[in-house]
Amino acid sequence: CKTYSTGGGWFSKARVVKAADDVTFTLHRGETLGLVGESGSGKSTVSRCVVRLLDSDSGEILIGEDAIQDLNTAELAPYRKRIQMVFQDPFASLNPRKTIGQIIADGPIAQGMEPAKALAKAAELLDLVELPRAALDRYPHEFSGGQRQRVGIARALAHDPEILVADEAISALDVSVQAQILDLLDTLKVRLNLAILFVVHDLRVAAQVCDRVIVMQKGKVVEMGVTKTVFEAPSHEYTKSLIDSIP
Ligand code: ATP
Ligand code: MG
Repeated sequence: CKTYSTGGGWFSKARVVKAADDVTFTLHRGETLGLVGESGSGKSTVSRCVVRLLDSDSGEILIGEDAIQDLNTAELAPYRKRIQMVFQDPFASLNPRKTIGQIIADGPIAQGMEPAKALAKAAELLDLVELPRAALDRYPHEFSGGQRQRVGIARALAHDPEILVADEAISALDVSVQAQILDLLDTLKVRLNLAILFVVHDLRVAAQVCDRVIVMQKGKVVEMGVTKTVFEAPSHEYTKSLIDSIP
């Protein structure tokens, strides 16, 4: 997955930033793969390329054996269901005028499921993310940040995805709530055999939850490996400096 961020606006005067270059990895079902690195290292760019929110200039994105990087919107539709995203700010990403039930059921309804069936599915998903079923008729503002992130996860799971891309999904939450959401993601990974791409700038969080990690610096992968190995015996100076900077 290789990309150049160009875009208009203040970058229009021929300034080109190579946001992610020569990034190659395989994400397996049943694993959490961490994408770590300091701000601006290209983590979000890579995760956005994976879900095709951003197009890369070259390279391949394969789901199983199917290359999706050149598919048009209609061709991409069946794959979109298989990769879902959980966002950083659970409040901003939930429609304040919709009930939790509507928010979770909307996706399946848009794909042709009967509304009653989709709402029944939403109720089951609330069980899965450990929220009370009474939440179905309530609105986002009635919930805490952690609970809203559970709704965001339930909304993603409503599509029965194989891959979950979580970009700083816990960064906006306080530490005790972060731990609960990490536990939940870990449980879901096993129960649903999910492949989770977990973007996080905080190495300590990556150490807790990721089976493997990719360390990025200035758009490049500098290190990739089993989390324990990377933390105990980092092979790259940049990884060492990141680990040393953990208070
Ligand atoms: P953070 O931890 O702050 O979220 P990140 O690792 O996710 O950082 P990216 O958001 O992927 O980093 O940004 C990588 C580089 O690409 C940065 O130099 C950033 O300024 C640049 N960039 C990101 N989006 C755009 C854009 N739309 N147009 C131009 N440059 C961009
Ligand atoms: Mg980012």
